Amino acid sequence: RAGGGREGQPRVLVLANQKGGVGKTTTAINLGTALAAVGERVLVVDLDPQGNASTGLGVDRTSRPVSAYDVLVGEASIEEALIDTAVPGLSLVASSMDLLGAELELADFDHRSHRLSDALAAFTSSDAGGAFSYVLVDCPPSLNLLTINAMVAADAILVPLQCEFFALEGLSQLLRTVERVKTSLNPDLEIQGIVLTMFDKRNNLSDQVAADVRDYMGDKVYRTVIPRNVRISEAPSFGKPALVYDYKCAGSKAYMKLASELIQRERTIRQAAA
Ligand code: ADP
Ligand code: MG
Repeated sequence: RAGGGREGQPRVLVLANQKGGVGKTTTAINLGTALAAVGERVLVVDLDPQGNASTGLGVDRTSRPVSAYDVLVGEASIEEALIDTAVPGLSLVASSMDLLGAELELADFDHRSHRLSDALAAFTSSDAGGAFSYVLVDCPPSLNLLTINAMVAADAILVPLQCEFFALEGLSQLLRTVERVKTSLNPDLEIQGIVLTMFDKRNNLSDQVAADVRDYMGDKVYRTVIPRNVRISEAPSFGKPALVYDYKCAGSKAYMKLASELIQRERTIRQAAA
């Protein structure tokens, strides 16, 4: 295995940003596909009741007998919920509409913020889980109990950020939440990186915001920038990652580049920890 976190265990990276429409799901799907394309085994966990990562990976509602909801309420293990996608090396734990009620239902559970973390820990230390190098968790667009569960389960957070007005305000709100989770629930939590998405090079504001984010977050910001690209937005309606729908488009190329930059960054993190 080239990638991965602790020896023999996958790295759990959580795609979080409380703002909707910033590219969390698109990044989960296409970064996941790009990592799988270079030989990493990847699990995408779809925690958004909307289920866009699941449908975007071609797994429609009728082919999700067991979902992330069943995992959270303790009725299934991650292994039981695993679904193979059409992309070799890329598996999915699908969303279900039941996740909409999970917040209320979990309120009565012990360790309600640790439900995903416990399930993932059981999985990553199993033989089946040990074969994976990355788990990418796609979060809903809010800082609710589902997102908190993801942050508690995370080794690190990957933040997709759209270069628009107020991007920095949104980012500092997210960073405050990460700090709170770090203090109270997951002391090892870190920001793995910031990915600038839907970048429009004809728009001066994009450039200005990108510069501000780099000033503020320094090296945490990936050099690779994901351009706004119509092929990326078309792909989900065919139930395919952009990388499968059109691997030559600028968006697909950017996600391949992001994957190699991420693998390099992960290698550096592992060496620093060793
Ligand atoms: P989130 O999961 O954060 O809500 P999505 O990944 O669903 O955001 O993206 C929001 C919308 O923008 C979707 O319709 C998606 O297809 C589109 N989109 C995402 N990234 C790009 C891109 N690089 N170029 C063009 N459209 C994009
Ligand atoms: Mg989404």
